[in-house]
Amino acid sequence: MEEYPRYISISKGFKPFDPLELAKRTEEIVCHNSSRKYTAFYCTGVYRGISTAYTVGCPLRCVFCWVSFSRDFPKEYGEFYTPEKVFENLVSNARKSKVKSLRISGGEPTLCRAHLLKVLDLVTSVDFLFILESSGILLGHDPSYAKALKKYPNIYVRISLKAGTAEGFQRRTGAIGDYYKLPFQAIKNLKRAGVSFHVASMSDPRLMPVSERREMFKNLRDVDYWDYLEEETCDPYDTSIIRLEKAGFDIWK
Ligand code: SF4
Repeated sequence: MEEYPRYISISKGFKPFDPLELAKRTEEIVCHNSSRKYTAFYCTGVYRGISTAYTVGCPLRCVFCWVSFSRDFPKEYGEFYTPEKVFENLVSNARKSKVKSLRISGGEPTLCRAHLLKVLDLVTSVDFLFILESSGILLGHDPSYAKALKKYPNIYVRISLKAGTAEGFQRRTGAIGDYYKLPFQAIKNLKRAGVSFHVASMSDPRLMPVSERREMFKNLRDVDYWDYLEEETCDPYDTSIIRLEKAGFDIWK
């Protein structure tokens, strides 16, 4: 079996991977029955205050990623939490800090589907908004996942695009370029399912060339997305700096 993909390294060589395959391999490490690995629970100031469960595991290896090295070494980090315990921690921290939103961050929340859906079931019993931040890989691959989200009245999805072309996707996420279409497919699937969402993109001009940004807009038009696009910039987190450097990007000049 191929070595588990970690951060992209130009000096060691890096073979592009199948993100659906990596999703499965990561789930074998971070999901157990309906439990999932987490490293922390806390509130933070984004979204005007949000209670956060910091999870482990992602099927992409974005060079600009700010999350901890739990992404790259999921075996070494985190402990398993049941959906009930995750829900309890999210809500008790939210009440203590008087914030109105909840999320799972630190990795891809749509891994471990049974776990996420159970957390969302529990969230329907309280008056909080659950913001589901996703790269759209699994939501694009399986339309039934987007449909399953429709039954939750208090969730809002934020799909985060990493690239506008196959080449940009492979260079900046480590995944095989052809899979760049999955997040756009996720937009289609969410629209069809009638789930509330908006799209964000890591289209920082230091990372995404103008021609690729143009392609990204074309792809968005092709999936009939005309709403707000939240364009992100890459911030100098310690982990992002290291990952960018290892992958041969020098954007801080
Ligand atoms: S930026 Fe998001 S999608 Fe990309 S590797 Fe990090 S956690 Fe995964």
